[in-house]
Amino acid sequence: MKVYLNGKFVDQSKAVVSVFDHGLLYGDGVFEGIRSYNGLIFKLEDHIDRLFESAHTIMLRVPMSKAELIGVVKESLRVNKLRDAYIRLVVTRGEGDLGLDPRKCAQPTVFIIADKIELYPKKLYEQGLELITVATQRNVPEALNPQIKSLNYLNNILAKIEAINAGYEEAIMLSHSGYVTECTGENIFIVKDKHLLTPPPYIGVLRGITRSTVMDLAATQRLNVQEDLLTRHDLFNAEEVFLTGTAAEIVPVVKIDGRVIGTGKPGPATKKLQAAFRQVTKTEGVRY
Ligand code: PMP
Repeated sequence: MKVYLNGKFVDQSKAVVSVFDHGLLYGDGVFEGIRSYNGLIFKLEDHIDRLFESAHTIMLRVPMSKAELIGVVKESLRVNKLRDAYIRLVVTRGEGDLGLDPRKCAQPTVFIIADKIELYPKKLYEQGLELITVATQRNVPEALNPQIKSLNYLNNILAKIEAINAGYEEAIMLSHSGYVTECTGENIFIVKDKHLLTPPPYIGVLRGITRSTVMDLAATQRLNVQEDLLTRHDLFNAEEVFLTGTAAEIVPVVKIDGRVIGTGKPGPATKKLQAAFRQVTKTEGVRY
């Protein structure tokens, strides 16, 4: 596999960064995860825009234009002869000294990995996932805004570890005030009485690109789409629950904290949205 690193495509084994890179020392950097489906990169511009917004907020200069970055994302897929892929795009503060000061990092590091990903086995998409609420709260947005897709994912990793320790694959994280936020790398939705509800960004969730896609698709399916504060009670008593993310796509949830959701099987609205999502990934996207 060839990895794009600071202007060149290098062999995977040569794709290495300095131990003085602040991406590694401090998680000082931003990233995106993007998918391509059958030769079409899904929502590429949205991901590039979000990367630039994250970088702008942390005052990190992306050392190339959006058009140039789009060019190398496409090139990464062509070089590796990939049609269905997961692309990881990373910009770090670059090499500095052992202090925090970002001014000491002269040149940002940019790399792109184009590979495959399968977060969960196929049968889980048919049978549904069981979730557990964990004690680790989602970062308070006033301290670290989750719209910054930064390289510091310890908040999410701690929650993931708790889920794994308890024998589950994925965790629900609550806000400081006890409202449902999101899972460790996916947004959460509930279906109830023809409504599709998902927590609002201000409670501390990433405005996921799959989340926006699903909200658009749902509006065409006679579902009343709304952002609303959700409690665990709302989840337990929903007709359907599902998760969304670029890597995970749409994952049905059938049990939460021991409570069966709806019929205990992936519901009709979730299945319809999965089908609609599959369709849109087949027809929309940037060719390479
Ligand atoms: N929440 C978090 C914390 C994430 O890291 C991600 C992306 N992995 C998502 C939600 C889903 O966002 P998207 O649909 O843009 O991939």
